[in-house]
Amino acid sequence: MSYPNLLAPLDLGYTTLRNRVVMGSMHTGLEDRARDTDQLAEYFAERARGGVGLIITGGYAPNRTGWLLPLASQLVSSAEARRHRRITAAVHEADGKILLQILHAGRYAYHPLSVSASSIKAPINPFRPRALRDIQGTIDDFVRCALLARDAGYDGVEIMGSEGYLLNQFLAPRTNKRTDAWGGTPEKRRRFPVEIVRRVREAVGTDFIACYRMSMADYVEDGQSWDEIVALATEIEAAGATMINSGFGWHEARVPTIVTSVPNAAFVGISSAVAEHVTIPVVASNRINMPQAAEQILTDTHVQLISMARPLLSDPDWVNKAAADSADEINTCIACNQACLDHAFVHKNVSCLLNPRAGRETTLLLSPTRRARSVAVVGAGPAGLATAVSSAQRGHRVTLFEAGSVVGGQFDLARRIPGKEEFNETIRYYSRMLDKHGVEVRLGTRVGVEELTGFDDVVLATGVTPRLPDIPGIDHPKVLTYAQAITGAPVGASVAVIGAGGIGFDVSEFLTTELSPTLNLKEWKAEWGAADPQEARGALTTPLPAPAVREVYLLQRTKGPQGRTLGKTSGWVHRASLKAKGVHQLSGVNYERIDDEGLHISFGPDHSDARVLAVDSVVICAGQESVRDLEEGLRRNGIQPHIIGGAALAAELDAKRAIKQGTELAARL
Ligand code: FAD
Ligand code: NAP
Ligand code: SF4
Repeated sequence: MSYPNLLAPLDLGYTTLRNRVVMGSMHTGLEDRARDTDQLAEYFAERARGGVGLIITGGYAPNRTGWLLPLASQLVSSAEARRHRRITAAVHEADGKILLQILHAGRYAYHPLSVSASSIKAPINPFRPRALRDIQGTIDDFVRCALLARDAGYDGVEIMGSEGYLLNQFLAPRTNKRTDAWGGTPEKRRRFPVEIVRRVREAVGTDFIACYRMSMADYVEDGQSWDEIVALATEIEAAGATMINSGFGWHEARVPTIVTSVPNAAFVGISSAVAEHVTIPVVASNRINMPQAAEQILTDTHVQLISMARPLLSDPDWVNKAAADSADEINTCIACNQACLDHAFVHKNVSCLLNPRAGRETTLLLSPTRRARSVAVVGAGPAGLATAVSSAQRGHRVTLFEAGSVVGGQFDLARRIPGKEEFNETIRYYSRMLDKHGVEVRLGTRVGVEELTGFDDVVLATGVTPRLPDIPGIDHPKVLTYAQAITGAPVGASVAVIGAGGIGFDVSEFLTTELSPTLNLKEWKAEWGAADPQEARGALTTPLPAPAVREVYLLQRTKGPQGRTLGKTSGWVHRASLKAKGVHQLSGVNYERIDDEGLHISFGPDHSDARVLAVDSVVICAGQESVRDLEEGLRRNGIQPHIIGGAALAAELDAKRAIKQGTELAARL
């Protein structure tokens, strides 16, 4: 067995987990509406069938002040508990175990009823909370919620005490300014969460899992000290918790904890240090996405379980594939957040960029076809790869034509951006799946109309090509496209980047960063000012980012701040990163001309403030145009192609849309 520690059962005394993989809590949006219960049950059941040892649901509020949003998920009545039986039954039928997460949002509640330890507004929420008065009543609500979860058939509960939610707000001097029995000293600040665990254990009896999710590094000023964190862990154990899960960073923290650029397993050392102080199992979490890394953590550290949330969205069969020694078939989560957390933050149902079936298990089916067709797919970017693999998996005979020498399309450029190295995993996954499902791949083949006759279906996934704006001097030797700059064409010491969309930001990151083959934890911590929690209260220190290796000007024609179209949960990271690198960001720019002197610009409708940016290179990131050169010829020959991805529409294209369209088309063929 390749992963003996990861796949070993864990005996909790009254029950046994079949392996060490925990599916961490993630709000999908399906929790909020009764009509989505069956979909939610199937979403969890698919992961249970995939071998996950222990599943934790998204958060359910124990009362209405704890709602994340008005009328969001809660568990406060027997009627609601009865509905949950469909979820627990589906998971148990697949031999899985499932905990319900009890989450009181505190001052992160997006409604006027919100409460917190003290009346201090969160910087990320317009609603000012009231200081919680009825503390015993709130503890009773947590207990009621746990009892209802037991009635609903759950194997236990997770009490959410991290990420800056209510219990975390009681623990930190930042948010707890109380002078009564629930604040003023570290012992009194701990009393509320410890009392909740004690009372829940007392109520539910001994044969029910009580997991406590604990913030092990707050990454905010006036967060908890290390002594307080350790004391909390020991008191939580004494109060009757079965296990402690790890949480890192509050939602308002300015240290990223989950995006792609966070090094793998960055926080495991902290979980392990907490585990040394308790005898119950501690669960590691954040940025662990492959079995080899998980196995290594269990071998080398004191943690006993590995929590993953997003990696099980992108691949529900993750555990079964590890057990079959087929890790190369895992569709590895690339921590982009684009279809999961970014959706959650705008109240859209959660899915996955790589796996559009996530959250749509009952409606987007890739069942075997009864009528195998011959399918030609043109273009091996994300759209073409998704179509080819999903069609072949259904039993169609697929030929994939790609003009380039490798698969990936624009993703082959994305993977070269510092902090996006994990995009390589997506290309590895698709390459393996093309092979496994017998797709005939013709690389280095710019296909024409003639080669496409005779197929039952022709899919144009020919993608996009960089747009060259109409600027005098655009053909000057110092001008490069983003594709040329990223693939190694020489770029000077000072650069103007034209266009500040997602690619302009990525290219600026690429040009200012010294490229290293791996993400380096020490450098990453220095860049973001993340201290070890043992060293500093709140785990913060002064950021010391590495100096930029080039002087970069990032320009856009539109007025106002740059990067407004970047993802909700990752855009701030990109913006902060470029600021730290000293990138000059100029908006409201007119591009007058490019010549030996550099890039001539002016500002506003009257073209005022004319100046020359005396740069060595100008890199064009001004969006893209669709490649549809085959369409007309095909139609003339009576072939009606399916057109997807960037070939269908270049505006606002991303890999999420490309893969979704490819998968949905394959489901229809
Ligand atoms: P493409 O990726 O353009 O693929 C089209 C393919 O078709 C190409 O390989 C091309 O060679 C081939 N082709 C064209 N004509 C023919 C022909 N006649 N015969 C054979 N083959 C042909 N998206 C995100 O979602 N998240 C990100 O973080 C992200 N980061 C990015 C970073 C960079 C630097 C870049 C450049 C892009 C990034 N993107 C990102 C965008 C994403 O890569 C694209 O949206 C996606 O690749 C579009 O997929 P597609 O399949 O439609 O087209
Ligand atoms: P984009 O986001 O549309 O940005 C294009 C930029 O070029 C804009 O700043 C635009 O700003 C400028 N521009 C457009 N036409 C121009 C012209 N004729 N002359 C000069 N400037 C022009 O496109 P992109 O940066 O190419 O990215 C493509 C897609 O890839 C995006 O939609 C994005 O979703 C995806 N992507 C995502 C990520 C991510 O991290 N999620 C990263 C990279 C790419 P002005 O008009 O104001 O000048
Ligand atoms: Fe992972 Fe991105 Fe999918 Fe979210 S959308 S699960 S971060 S790959």
